Amino acid sequence: METILYSIFIFIIGTCFGSFFNVVGYRLPNNMSIAYPSSHCPNCKHKLGVLELIPVLSYIFQFGKCKHCKEKISIFYPIFELLTGILFVICYLVFKDTYPEIYNVIFAIVFISSLIIIIISDIKYMIIPDEVLIFFSIILLLIKMVIIHKLNVNYTWIDVGYELLFSLFDGIIMFIIMYGIRFFGNLIFKKDSMGGGDIKMMAFISLFIGWELGVVVIFLASFLALPLSIINMYKNKEHILAFGPYLAIATMILFLCKIDINMVIEFIS
Ligand SMILES: [Zn+2]
Repeated sequence: METILYSIFIFIIGTCFGSFFNVVGYRLPNNMSIAYPSSHCPNCKHKLGVLELIPVLSYIFQFGKCKHCKEKISIFYPIFELLTGILFVICYLVFKDTYPEIYNVIFAIVFISSLIIIIISDIKYMIIPDEVLIFFSIILLLIKMVIIHKLNVNYTWIDVGYELLFSLFDGIIMFIIMYGIRFFGNLIFKKDSMGGGDIKMMAFISLFIGWELGVVVIFLASFLALPLSIINMYKNKEHILAFGPYLAIATMILFLCKIDINMVIEFIS
């Protein structure tokens, strides 16, 4: 019963955050302030009232249209609100029975949030803002410090810092791996095969899942991206594919299924 009540509460909070992530993902790549101006219709500039700001429900009750100019609102918004709510609940359910539970749940929710914002801005603008990666790196490393400290009560903060160095090491290794992939990709395809955003993003992800699992993420993402790439090639379209969302989805799958590198090695061999 308690679990259900918590889940509902976290779902509602999640949809509100999803609404905020839409704003962040939309404004940051445009170098706009996150706080001002307040949310408005992009078409008629009408300022949204409280009743128009309710995640998912406002969209449904307004039949997906702006109340004033009747311009259609992108389905993108309610989908990401809903998705954020669902993912927050999954984070809670997956990590609620681990130790230290509250910190693990918070870590998972913050980590997944960073990936959602990356997906939104990469889909819309093919940009992964540095601000997002830096902000979330700092917050997540701080939460990780607390988790390491809780798991090892006899650790001094210097020991904790020492363990964090390994995380940074993971990020640097992944950075080098991604540069290597880009170098050979450029050699083979004779054009820019990978964006700098993807490289930084994978270094960011590897800080928290380790570089070995990061490599698995790259393989899984390539696999997930395959159907759409084939369709793209078949249609003879210009081969532009935002790879960030696939990397983010692959990371979410591995992270939320609690898959670690040993399980992957066992599976392969
Ligand atoms: Zn409007």
